[in-house]
Amino acid sequence: MIHIVGAGFSGLSLAWELQKAGLKVIVYEKNRIGGRIQSYRTSTHLRETAANGVLWNPRFEVLAKELGVEFQPSQNEAKKRFIFHNRRPRRWPLSFIETIKFLAAGFKFILKKIFTKKQIDSDLTLEQWGTQSFGSPFTGVILSAAVQGIFALTPKYLNAKAVLESFKSVTAFKKAKKYKPVTYSPKDGMGELISALKQKLAEKDVIIKHQEILDLKDLNLEKNDVVVIATSAWEAAQLIPQTQGLEKIQAVPITTVTLVWPKEAKTLAGFGCLFPPVERFFAAGVLINSCIFANRGPNPSETWIISQDLEKFSDEQIKQHVLMDRQRLFPNQDQPLERHIVRWPKAIPAYNLQLEKFLETYQQTAKTLAKDNIYLSGNYLGKIGLAKIYDQNIVLAKKLKVHYG
Ligand SMILES: Cc1cc2nc3c(=O)[nH]c(=O)nc-3n(C[C@H](O)[C@H](O)[C@H](O)COP(=O)(O)OP(=O)(O)OC[C@H]3O[C@@H](n4cnc5c(N)ncnc54)[C@H](O)[C@@H]3O)c2cc1C
Repeated sequence: MIHIVGAGFSGLSLAWELQKAGLKVIVYEKNRIGGRIQSYRTSTHLRETAANGVLWNPRFEVLAKELGVEFQPSQNEAKKRFIFHNRRPRRWPLSFIETIKFLAAGFKFILKKIFTKKQIDSDLTLEQWGTQSFGSPFTGVILSAAVQGIFALTPKYLNAKAVLESFKSVTAFKKAKKYKPVTYSPKDGMGELISALKQKLAEKDVIIKHQEILDLKDLNLEKNDVVVIATSAWEAAQLIPQTQGLEKIQAVPITTVTLVWPKEAKTLAGFGCLFPPVERFFAAGVLINSCIFANRGPNPSETWIISQDLEKFSDEQIKQHVLMDRQRLFPNQDQPLERHIVRWPKAIPAYNLQLEKFLETYQQTAKTLAKDNIYLSGNYLGKIGLAKIYDQNIVLAKKLKVHYG
């Protein structure tokens, strides 16, 4: 029997792969099935609490078919991505001169790579690496905004090696034909994926038990039983405190503010806008939900993403700050019809030096844990997005099938 602790996307998708491999599985969840992922549809809009889409690949396409969930690609309009620069949201490429400057820096970097093939120093922050490779203008504007949109931290706090490694495919799939990087989502949001996983697992007799596992002894394991901890890093650290470096992985706080507007209100026509730290916005970026995917209306809605500790801010204060940010995009704006705030004091793992140190020795850590039949799954193992988590779970399921099938 495989015992999975945590019924977020990591635990549920791993359970799906394991039952396909013919292994017996039970999942434990202390709180909500789906973990961070939930979708809410109202008469005005559809909003997400965490992931709003998946970076599509062939494996996810197969999963969608198996679960009978219809995914839709982001709309053509969403190909436009904006970055706030020189007092307004601007589409990439910026200006001719700026583009030449950035390309020249990139060219220098490629030449350097070809001739030196130097490994990235694991102590370098992304800011140091970016400045050395591309220069300050690129790092301060483009790189800062881009990584902040994914990792919720500026390059100053991110580890270069951990971040760059996370963009690589999972080893087993490196040679697979690549899809164009397009984001997909089910018509009724990511919650539909979670509901389908829950229902299909039930049909395959996989039980999801509502129980908090405080100690692995609570699982009453029998000989040859296996435990997979599919929680956040900090929750995993409580269950296996002996695992070196796990307790040092830090969490980034994220607050999202979804604003719903009257039908005729002006909003950006594109995926969203990133705000480089030099522009001193309150938010790190904004996603234009109603533009990214069809069927998110009828009213326009936006999700503002703030990656700061907002414990001392009231909801009203947060809303006012976001409206001030928005004023820089659209002067003379109306009042939103609705606002919905989701606070994640510990949203995602910080891809910083502590995490890089953990990942550097992870192969060895995994071997030590496997001796006690313990395995890990989650977004702190080098990959933060759902498609890559799923890829890692496919590999893990194959491994467990070989050992315990
Ligand atoms: C605001 C935001 C936006 C994001 N956007 C995207 C995006 O667009 N695309 C993308 O691919 N990714 C995105 N992500 C990342 C993605 O949502 C997460 O990486 C993913 O949902 C994490 O899933 P998980 O199952 O690993 O963790 P979780 O969702 O945290 O699930 C872990 C589960 O384990 C349970 N648990 C913990 N401890 C115990 C215990 N002791 N006993 C029993 N149960 C326990 C928890 O209650 C929880 O349900 C985003 C994340 C956030 C926060």
